[in-house]
Amino acid sequence: MNYRHAYHAGNIGDVLKHAVLARLIVYFQRKEKPFRILDTHAGIGQYDLTSEETRKTGEWQQGIAKVLDADIPNAVAALLQPWLEVVRDLNPDGALETYPGSPVLARRLMRRSDRLTLTELHPVDFKSLSDLFAGDFQVKTIHLDGWLAMGSFLPPKEKRGFVLIDPAFEVADEFDRMTVSVLKAWKRWAGGTYAIWYPLKDTRSIGRMHDAFAAAGIRDLLSLELKAGKSGPDTRMLGSGMTLINPPFTLADEMRTLLPWFNSILHQGPGSGWDVTQLIGE
Ligand code: SAM
Repeated sequence: MNYRHAYHAGNIGDVLKHAVLARLIVYFQRKEKPFRILDTHAGIGQYDLTSEETRKTGEWQQGIAKVLDADIPNAVAALLQPWLEVVRDLNPDGALETYPGSPVLARRLMRRSDRLTLTELHPVDFKSLSDLFAGDFQVKTIHLDGWLAMGSFLPPKEKRGFVLIDPAFEVADEFDRMTVSVLKAWKRWAGGTYAIWYPLKDTRSIGRMHDAFAAAGIRDLLSLELKAGKSGPDTRMLGSGMTLINPPFTLADEMRTLLPWFNSILHQGPGSGWDVTQLIGE
């Protein structure tokens, strides 16, 4: 396991992922009933943007830094407010030095009755994560393979909530593994919401995953894409995408407001763009 999210924290992929994560939480809080989030590939929780790793790539400067520096139109600001408030609260002096990963973002937006289960397999990253949430009765950190977690912890006892699936894509067959694991989870908990993030590199694998979901009978599938484009011949990732199973009915419209705006401030070169597609209707 070589992947360390510290090199990528706050980049354009995180912008898409964390904007969606915050909107999911806002939606689940429309009802008083508690819910649970399972974050299968949790990382270390939050990121020091002054560290050697983050400074080496500086990816956050092309992502969250641009979002915070931009003039945000009202409709967009209203949708981003919960996420950006967490980012600003973590950086009270104004300078952006700490970036909330999915665990800290989720934890800060949760109510007292909501619960968060975090699994992380990298031993060093798991130690940082479990130290961060030590003694927090709303958060359970588990040193476990996220693919196994989906088979073990679903459905949650709250019977409401969602699963964030954000793998490192280090291994060649990650898409196939993910497809199998998500389908297994969906069979255990067909009413759950699943939010899957991936880089937009291997479009064939993404298509295969969508086909497998459709063939299994999944009926509400939303695809989101945000592409920065190629800033130079060496650019490896054009952008990233997310697939949502059983998304909140509000999400597609919210993303039609957010993604063109993200694209307008984050684009870097040819191939930039955004997309919101309902792959299979409800
Ligand atoms: N979700 C995090 C966030 O938004 O802040 C970032 C997660 S990062 C993209 C992927 C993480 O998955 C890495 O920390 C990596 O160590 C971990 N990982 C890799 N394989 C795993 C597995 N099979 N189960 C659980 N975690 C895994």
